[in-house]
Amino acid sequence: MKIGQFVKRNISAIFQYCKTSDPSEFARLQDPQYSKETFDINYPFCKPVSKIAPEEHIRFYNAIHDVHGIPVRVTSQWFNPPTSKSLPLFRRYLAKLNIAPDLSPQEAPTSIAAKERAARGRYRGSAIGIAQNAFVRHLLSRIGDEQFNADQWQAVISDFDQRCAYCGAAGDLVMEHVIPINRTALGEHRLGNLVPACRSCNSTKADQDYRAFLAHETDRIAAIEAHMAKHDYVPIRDNQRLRQIIELAHQDVRQLADRYAAIVETMLAGEEDKT
Ligand SMILES: [Zn+2]
Repeated sequence: MKIGQFVKRNISAIFQYCKTSDPSEFARLQDPQYSKETFDINYPFCKPVSKIAPEEHIRFYNAIHDVHGIPVRVTSQWFNPPTSKSLPLFRRYLAKLNIAPDLSPQEAPTSIAAKERAARGRYRGSAIGIAQNAFVRHLLSRIGDEQFNADQWQAVISDFDQRCAYCGAAGDLVMEHVIPINRTALGEHRLGNLVPACRSCNSTKADQDYRAFLAHETDRIAAIEAHMAKHDYVPIRDNQRLRQIIELAHQDVRQLADRYAAIVETMLAGEEDKT
């Protein structure tokens, strides 16, 4: 059996020992130095969920354990011999605590609640996607300090003769981002990136590039680019550093959501136990 599997099977027994035999052991298991000496690992055996930094998430197993009312996750950074001495050390540790090692090969049975959660996963997935994209829009809209008012926006509509910048239709016009304000296109919320569009063009263009959307309509493309130049708007396009930061922000929103979802689930599971 791989050491990771072996550790996982015995986590509950170790935390049970902390709860019933020696509460101070729980504090020691959160100490990196103690964990290094006891298990030859480079992370603390366990860490409170609230203290795990976003970049550390991959260093801990997903399962949350409630110890003395504190939700914790156990580190996943275990290595097999010969690279590491963790396996014999972990066996010795279990022996010291009088825990009979659990070597059972079967997976823990999945609870009905866990199955229900898994079935709900895809809905949660799309909801968090909306939050992630909203956060990216928010970041992109804050680049620079350009402010504009309603009069300036009206002036832009006049520049386009009160017509849709894409098809020329008059009537009900909305504010349209020429370069989409998302993590791939990196458009900004600045006057030079805003044109009036009819609702139909606004929804059919969606996240497409304006040049592809307008295909051979070179006059309309030229008018939009003249508008960008007039307002000193230079699209970011290929700034790799910005792209990486936006990508990181996008991922962090999901991790933040996962972290709080886990805290809430642990809290609710604790309440279930009491009833
Ligand atoms: Zn239109």
